[in-house]
Amino acid sequence: MNQLIPLVQSDESRLRIQLWVAFFGWTLLVLFLLLWAMSNEYAEMLELARREAIDNFNKDQAFRVWATTHGGVYVPVTERTQPSPLLRHIPERDLVTPSGRQLTLLNPAYMLRQMMEDYAELYGVKGRITSTKTLNPENAPDEWERAALESFERGEKEQFELTDINGEPYLRLIRPMETKAGCLKCHHNQGYQVGDIRGGVGISVPMKHYFSSAAEQKREIKAGLGLIWFAGVSAIWFYGRRSRQRFRERKDYEDQIWQQANFDSLTGLSNRNLFLDRLGRALAFARRQHSILALLFIDLDRFKYVNDALGHATGDQLLQEAARRLRLCVREMDTVSRLGGDEFTVILPIISEGQAVARVATSILTELSRPFDLGGQETHVSASIGITLYPQDGSDTGMLLQNADTAMYQAKAEGRNTYRFFTWEMNKVAEGRVSLGAALRNALRGNEFQLHYQPIVDIADGQIVGAEALIRWGSPEQGRVGPDQFIPVAEESGLIVPIGDWVLQQAALDLKLWDRAGLKMELLSVNVSTVQFQFEGFLEKMLDLMKHQPHLSSRLFLEITESVFLDEHREPGTRLGVLRKQGIGISIDDFGTGYSSLSYLKRFPVDKIKIDKSFIRDVTTDPEDAALCEAIIAMAHHLGLKVVAEGVETKAQWRFLHESGCDYAQGYYIGRPMAAATFTDFLVKHTDVPATG
Ligand code: C2E
Ligand code: MG
Ligand code: MG
Repeated sequence: MNQLIPLVQSDESRLRIQLWVAFFGWTLLVLFLLLWAMSNEYAEMLELARREAIDNFNKDQAFRVWATTHGGVYVPVTERTQPSPLLRHIPERDLVTPSGRQLTLLNPAYMLRQMMEDYAELYGVKGRITSTKTLNPENAPDEWERAALESFERGEKEQFELTDINGEPYLRLIRPMETKAGCLKCHHNQGYQVGDIRGGVGISVPMKHYFSSAAEQKREIKAGLGLIWFAGVSAIWFYGRRSRQRFRERKDYEDQIWQQANFDSLTGLSNRNLFLDRLGRALAFARRQHSILALLFIDLDRFKYVNDALGHATGDQLLQEAARRLRLCVREMDTVSRLGGDEFTVILPIISEGQAVARVATSILTELSRPFDLGGQETHVSASIGITLYPQDGSDTGMLLQNADTAMYQAKAEGRNTYRFFTWEMNKVAEGRVSLGAALRNALRGNEFQLHYQPIVDIADGQIVGAEALIRWGSPEQGRVGPDQFIPVAEESGLIVPIGDWVLQQAALDLKLWDRAGLKMELLSVNVSTVQFQFEGFLEKMLDLMKHQPHLSSRLFLEITESVFLDEHREPGTRLGVLRKQGIGISIDDFGTGYSSLSYLKRFPVDKIKIDKSFIRDVTTDPEDAALCEAIIAMAHHLGLKVVAEGVETKAQWRFLHESGCDYAQGYYIGRPMAAATFTDFLVKHTDVPATG
């Protein structure tokens, strides 16, 4: 995750930069457009005003040409229009119409001056003729006009400017005025020739309404561009938001993938993947710093029973709570992981000495042995911890982990709820387990197994009622190996199935021999491992056995443990029912040590329970064990079950059981497990154990 966050952050900061660039770019573009439109608008306004001025100029010229062509215009003499003194020399300047009206000739300049005065009054457009050599001093040019007239001498055709006239804005345009033939009538004595530039006609157009309409236009442009800018910025904003959202979604998705790849979904602890990575880093660090590193391999004791008995949901709850407690026992820098199932690890990267590790291990054991409240149900578990230290127990992750596992196995073998530091001797034990498995494979073929029988006695009258068959293994390589040692290995490898078959066949044979010898055997108990019981073809095999060995009927008892009931998917009730129908009895072995609920006894077809020897051992000294035994016996009888007490070693125990109403007893007090031949002698001697001791 630490790698992904910067990735996403860099993506996001890149996006942020892109968005700012887009924003500024867009704003600049719109600003540029605004400036361009404004200046365009200004130029257009000037051009329009200039056009208006030119139109007026053209009109002026047209009138002037028309008036010149006609040699002037006769108009009635009024107060405003008096005979022109400049035309004094023209004899027909003043005429009288037959009706007596007095007319006077107006020359073009005079006529147009008046027209322009009217025009100015009506429309605000002023017109004026000017020349450097004027007949009328009023037409003398001002400074700007003079400069314009000079430029016309140089061939220019037009001049215009924006100016103020009486505080109002005007566009002033001036164009040259050419001498036409008609002009010479008045101006020949000034020395002009046709085609000469005689002066200029200036037109002043008021700009006020141009400015106000331009201002209006500019406002519209600003509003329009403002809207366009806003739309663009909104698009950038939306794009940014969506991209950010996409980044977030991608980041969430990648986080999720990373989480799934590196963390255990149930407990939130790092998983095997991340654990190996962290261990590798911690090792590299320890190597550089020459420091000590500790690895703790933690396995919950009997977790499977809790899981099976209380259901997977409760099992999950237990694991979550265990994970929480584990975290409490370590420092921030330590890594707690779940490797799978009920296996946890803790990496203590910097540790001063073994004592400190032992303290951590002890606190973990203490924490985990506190009762767990699982949905209102108080449950107890414990843990076994194996510890390896770097550098002494291994230099790489694989070796440290494997050795920690070996040490954990040793902790389990030494009674659970404890921790063990790895020692190189342990490896020999582990290797021994491996070679035990290999030797076990040859044991069946090599006839290395034997069955021993331990007598079971009716407590009421002391009569032997039968025996329990117990397997013995004499291995040429391993020597004598007890069933407690090799049965779990056989279960792991599946060899328990053929071994179990052999036991049943052998027990059936031995019973037949005792029958033939006329020895009395009411029952024969055979241990059946849960793995064997749940094996697919088990029922068929039993049916086959009963068919071929009918003498077993009603006398064969299978000793199963409570764990058989836990896996309800395999329908233990149905299986037990089928066995029952074949005349096979069912005993619950080691009763009281498992986690199964007592309700199983009611629900499943069971005949006997065998109270585990751990309860019988202290029955005469520990009032709690005594009470427990009495309760079990009473309850079993209530349910119509017979009770066998295992591990009866003393007369006192025997007496207690007798008084408690226990049905059968088995133990060294009566007889140890013995080879078939020895047991035959035992039967022959028919050792009667006194009913009251
Ligand atoms: P289990 O079925 O509970 O057998 C009783 C165990 O208690 C036997 O140990 C027996 O030797 C021992 N025992 C009997 N009386 C006393 C006594 O007075 N005091 C003490 N301390 N122990 C006593 P063993 O033969 O070592 O068997 C251990 C376990 O191995 C058995 O416990 C059973 O679970 C398993 N086992 C033995 N044979 C077979 C077999 O053929 N198949 C299977 N699946 N398991 C077997
Ligand atoms: Mg047994
Ligand atoms: Mg037992």
